[in-house]
Amino acid sequence: MTEAKKYRAFTLNNFRKIPEVRNLLSKEERHEIEVVGNVLPFKVNNYVVEKLIDWENIPEDPIYQLTFPQRGMLSDAHFKEMENALQQNLSNNALKLIADNIRYQLNPHPDGQQQNIPFLDGIRLTGIQHKYRETVLFFPRNGQTCHAYCSFCFRWPQFVSIDELKFAMRETELLVRYLKKHPEVTDVLFTGGDPMVMSTENFAAYVEPLIQAGIANLQTIRIGTKALSYWPYRFLTDKDADDMLRLFEAIVKKGYNLAFMAHFNHPRELHTPAVQKAIQRILCTGSKIRTQSPVMKHINDSADDWRSLWMEQISLGCIPYYMFIARDTGAQGYFAVELERAWDIFRQAYQSVSGIARTVRGPSMSTDPGKVQILGVNEIMGEKVFALRFIQGRDPGWVGKPFFAKYNPYAVWIDDLMPAFDRTKFFFEEEEELERNHILLN
Ligand SMILES: *Cc1c(COP(=O)(O)O)cnc(C)c1O
Ligand code: SF4
Repeated sequence: MTEAKKYRAFTLNNFRKIPEVRNLLSKEERHEIEVVGNVLPFKVNNYVVEKLIDWENIPEDPIYQLTFPQRGMLSDAHFKEMENALQQNLSNNALKLIADNIRYQLNPHPDGQQQNIPFLDGIRLTGIQHKYRETVLFFPRNGQTCHAYCSFCFRWPQFVSIDELKFAMRETELLVRYLKKHPEVTDVLFTGGDPMVMSTENFAAYVEPLIQAGIANLQTIRIGTKALSYWPYRFLTDKDADDMLRLFEAIVKKGYNLAFMAHFNHPRELHTPAVQKAIQRILCTGSKIRTQSPVMKHINDSADDWRSLWMEQISLGCIPYYMFIARDTGAQGYFAVELERAWDIFRQAYQSVSGIARTVRGPSMSTDPGKVQILGVNEIMGEKVFALRFIQGRDPGWVGKPFFAKYNPYAVWIDDLMPAFDRTKFFFEEEEELERNHILLN
């Protein structure tokens, strides 16, 4: 049996207590962590430090890059601004203002996420996002933090932790009413943060009313989580781990498809006995585990990494699902992989695995109009182009239709792309414009 582990978090306040930080990092490196960590998210824990990071290989180690702030994640100007602020012994509030001002310049809410908040009987449902017809995202208030933070994460503006059951009940009641009014919705995706930071009692307060409500259209309950990577003991030895697994089983028994959307960035995260055992226990409840990750420089920008990720996931019983392009937020400059290179990595890895692993789709950008897949680079009528298509669209009618952008070897995001063949707009931009005019005329 896996030994029981007591969770211990390390943040800016106490990271110097990590023995490896004291012994292996220079004074300068510790200083850089402190400066960058005052702007970008920083939290690790004893599992990440002891079992995942290879301290013989820092700073290049991918898990170290994934979790520890690095100098290059901020521009020189922002770095100096925060460094100066820290030297001035300012109050916490004053420091926070300076940090927030820098964060504000790092596009903290990419792709108009805030526009997708629905209304119900005049109430703004701030814990819900409904962008794609079939799937509603649900942000339980108690699940807006994580067991450790990823240095690239775009969810960082919302990391706060509260722990109150009454929120859960109120929020779920609204969700149930919303789902009953929207028969087109088949999926609810619990997301955050990481909903698996919640106690079983808290999570049950959300999910039980949902499965008891008899919502005929609801088929799939998804849980977006990185707990398998950052704290597999959540499913093994935490004191309410067994209760959590019984709850999963109950959801499945009730006839729902329970789908984990597990976030794995590097094959190393699949190698510990703890994660392997946790995956096995979750699968034994009748749940499914699908996997996803962005492709990022310093962490996983090689076809070998992706091939290993997919092959090892398959042998553990998981289903590869999405490869994403790093979003245009936070430290994107540090992690960005050119679209063409991302496609190359995807294609080489995809070619080298059996059809069982080719359930994966990507590389895909989660943009305002939808999830845009890079199908590849090719030449059409003498013009070099990117072929693209929507995997998900704000308008479901856009999905699956190929469209073309001018080739640009430096492009890292859709904003860097222009329509090919002398068109001035992409087809969906034309449709959106027609729609707007139509609304104006009526
Ligand atoms: C990705 C995503 C979903 C889920 O899409 P699937 O392709 O069904 O996994 C839902 N809502 C938003 C906003 C998303 O970005
Ligand atoms: S676990 Fe998910 S939500 Fe949490 S920091 Fe990482 S990417 Fe962001």
